[in-house]
Amino acid sequence: MALSGIQIYKLLPQTNCKECGYPTCLAFAMKLAAKQAELSACPYVSEESKKQLAESAAPPIRLVTLKGPEGEVKAGNEVCLFRHEKTFYNKPGLFIRLQASDPNLAEKVRQAAAYKVSYVGIDFTVDGFAIQADGDLGAAVKTVRSVTGRPLILMGDPASLPAGLEACSGETPMIYAADASNWEALADLAAKYKAALAVKGASLDEIADLTQKIQAKGVEDMVLDLGGKTLGDWLTLSTQVRRLALKNFRPLGYPVIALAAGGEKEPLVAAQAIAKYAGFVVLDTFSPELLYALLVLRENIYTDPQKPIQVQPGIYEINKPTAESPVLVTTNFSITYFAVANEVEGSGLPAWLVVCDAEGMSVLTAWAAGKFDAERIAKSIKGFDVASKVSQKRLVLPGHVAVLSGELEEELPDWEIKVGPREAVDLPAYMKQVLA
Ligand code: SF4
Repeated sequence: MALSGIQIYKLLPQTNCKECGYPTCLAFAMKLAAKQAELSACPYVSEESKKQLAESAAPPIRLVTLKGPEGEVKAGNEVCLFRHEKTFYNKPGLFIRLQASDPNLAEKVRQAAAYKVSYVGIDFTVDGFAIQADGDLGAAVKTVRSVTGRPLILMGDPASLPAGLEACSGETPMIYAADASNWEALADLAAKYKAALAVKGASLDEIADLTQKIQAKGVEDMVLDLGGKTLGDWLTLSTQVRRLALKNFRPLGYPVIALAAGGEKEPLVAAQAIAKYAGFVVLDTFSPELLYALLVLRENIYTDPQKPIQVQPGIYEINKPTAESPVLVTTNFSITYFAVANEVEGSGLPAWLVVCDAEGMSVLTAWAAGKFDAERIAKSIKGFDVASKVSQKRLVLPGHVAVLSGELEEELPDWEIKVGPREAVDLPAYMKQVLA
């Protein structure tokens, strides 16, 4: 039973020392009750209080980790319904479903496993593979393992699953899926092979009933398949499960799996599942175009809204710059950096790109917030010793902050300050026409 903020407060030291980052123990207790803080942030909680608080401190959605020899996928540990309330933590794993009977199994795995795309400095890949036991599951697991060690979901019945589980013993795969007819046998397999177990039912009541029975058999790591005949059904169920879990309804406090299941609607089903609470998404189609869109969507939803994606401040070389090459300046917001760097790189023109620490904000936002001003830019130019790399001291400001040029001339009197275009896409033409 979840404790209220006041009940939690009574178990805290009540010294208001602020070490947890909150001004009072009561404020910290309220955050704990709302699942927006970790108990470990207070170093002074007694062991006795810790035990009593364990229930309240436990994440409302259990963390489930699938492991293979070459990586792991985590789902769960989420604490809010809307990303802006705090953040979403564990990105849903994207799995490609394969058929054990497929004569081209190895080639299909090879293609999907080779998929790798860079997006704002982050490598996108497929997270794992789901294998449908419509043939020899043990042989199929061995085939997949000969190509990749990424985590697995094994989909079958109590008769077909053991061979597959044996072939990946020592890993932590997911077994799909226990229902009212087979849950005892699959719970035994999950316990024996230390696998996570997907659970499905005709209603949330049935799923909640099953998870309690399965837990009583010693299986803690479960994943919920909510069914749902339409996109709307699935969204309703997923939202209900997240709401109930956040209210500490433990029988539904597990990550959710979504089977996108091919067809015209596969992209929609997968996109909705990523946006609304799936921990694992299984695609029937390996399509680089679809994967890229889904992975970008996932990256954006799971970026902490209070911590934009950033690149390391510093001086970056583009197209082998020389002492005559111009110096461009921008901020360390990843998307800004890559927009500028890609345009210049694509033009083939050499340049030095100075990336200032603007706390991960874009140019205009950082300027408005006072994080990208003449003083900071000058500090970066001096700090990165840019002057030692060039013979012609020309510095190009982003056009959006043309207003800084006067101040920057005062800060850097021996530099020629130029105002570049507002948009990165116009940089190549500007460099050819103005800097040539
Ligand atoms: S660190 Fe602990 S004792 Fe100090 S204010 Fe926070 S909750 Fe209270």
